[in-house]
Amino acid sequence: MNKLGVHAFVWEKGWSHDECTRAIARTAEVGFDLIEVSVMDPKQVDVDFTRKQLEQHGLGATMSFGLDASTDISSNDPEKTKRGQERLEEYIYLCRDFGATHLCGILHSAFQKYAVPTTKDGVARSVETLHRVGEIAAKSNITLGLEVVNRYESNVLNTASQAVEMCKRIGLPNVRAHLDVYHMNIEESDMAQAIVDTGEYLGYFHTGDSHRGYLGSGSIDLAGAFRAIVRSGYQGPITFESFSSRVVGQPLEGILGIWRNLWEDSVDLANHALMYTKAQLKAAQEAQKQAERSRLL
Ligand code: MN
Repeated sequence: MNKLGVHAFVWEKGWSHDECTRAIARTAEVGFDLIEVSVMDPKQVDVDFTRKQLEQHGLGATMSFGLDASTDISSNDPEKTKRGQERLEEYIYLCRDFGATHLCGILHSAFQKYAVPTTKDGVARSVETLHRVGEIAAKSNITLGLEVVNRYESNVLNTASQAVEMCKRIGLPNVRAHLDVYHMNIEESDMAQAIVDTGEYLGYFHTGDSHRGYLGSGSIDLAGAFRAIVRSGYQGPITFESFSSRVVGQPLEGILGIWRNLWEDSVDLANHALMYTKAQLKAAQEAQKQAERSRLL
């Protein structure tokens, strides 16, 4: 069974005690299985406080972040690579200490618009570091999800097939591809086929829509995406990600280009996303059964 989650930015832009308390309580009230905690600076997280809040509400957690220019593990500057490894380890220990099962996001390169393409050496350096930190994550049963993002947010992983190849080179069962329909809608030729082809390498999934607002209110073929998820046999987390200038401030609104207020009411947005996801998954599961029930005797 896929655990269903919601990105913390649906509720709050930071992770102070008040923000953490509200985000976790609301996630549990709406009925999600987990919250994806996302901070740009690991020092923002009070580990013990967060763990207690999660336990109190019986809620699971995952975590996401993106490396930056000074911690870019695909760069040819050994200092940046070293800092990137340290940063990744810091987040892994954070996940271990508050009980997050997955660390995902742009872990393979900097979360930024690059001016030049990556290189074979850049990819190899990223693979090397991710192998090292993947082994550390495995000791705490943490899965690393390498998020495939559009061309304006990384020059290393832009398509699902690139992520599968990178996972193969890393060669660890706990380092998997993290797919996101928003990015796939920009880069993939055939989103559903890409999800099915990722198959056992799929380890984390973000839903959303073309404008990152209400699920189903944009132009993405979500029914097709959910059918592909079910066809692929994927059993991992599915997390709803949405951004509005109502919540997100700088520096993230600048990096992600969040200029519009796409929603006001986080509770309504999250309630709808959970209902929509459950309905789509149910429909996709029934479609799969229908195919099995309709074989010629
Ligand atoms: Mn995403």
